[in-house]
Amino acid sequence: MSDRVDEYIASLFARDDDVLAALREAADREGLPPISISAVTGRLLQILLSAIGATRVLEVGTLGGYSAIWMARALPEAGRVVTIEVDERHAEFARRYFARAGLEARIDLRIGRALDVLPAFDGERFDAIFLDADKEPLPTYFDWALRLLRPGGLLIADNALWGGRVLDPETADEGTKGVREFNQRMASDDRVRGTIVPVGDGLAVGVVN
Ligand code: SAH
Ligand code: MG
Repeated sequence: MSDRVDEYIASLFARDDDVLAALREAADREGLPPISISAVTGRLLQILLSAIGATRVLEVGTLGGYSAIWMARALPEAGRVVTIEVDERHAEFARRYFARAGLEARIDLRIGRALDVLPAFDGERFDAIFLDADKEPLPTYFDWALRLLRPGGLLIADNALWGGRVLDPETADEGTKGVREFNQRMASDDRVRGTIVPVGDGLAVGVVN
């Protein structure tokens, strides 16, 4: 999507409010990596969550909390976003902004490596899972997601195009291989009907049977 198209859509549907604007500014100032989803992607996540009546969402990769705030705002009062972050500094930053957004009761932040934290949720059911952390374990995250999602739940992953590297057969680093295998499984696993929406760096979206 061109920047002008993105700005047009954002200006109509996805304006950052004061909290999100302040979060972005502080994230830049404090040197957090500039890899949050865009506002347009945040809005798309909200529509997807509303469309399925989601109340329980699991996110892998919190960073400064930008995407978690977008998603939490699409949930009813009693809804929950559980979000997993390995970096204590990112988690501490995110916690500040969950409070500023008045969402600390709706967002449950867990600190740790996703693969260490995920087993704690075995037996639970989520309406949607948003994967936006490290790319190498994506095939394992795919397995976890299918275990934890209810029928009709949404499996969503950011960076499905990985800066175009998935398209280039010459690129074979571990991260790229993880994204490529994840996309392949989204495409071929009978338990999920998926596609990639070419928004931002590509948003893989699938509905679980
Ligand atoms: N979803 C965020 C952006 C996440 S950036 C947003 O759009 O606002 C990716 C985050 O995943 C980083 O904060 C990084 O520290 C975290 N991360 C990387 N590997 C991880 C792992 N194995 N477990 C949990 N978090 C991880
Ligand atoms: Mg991302």
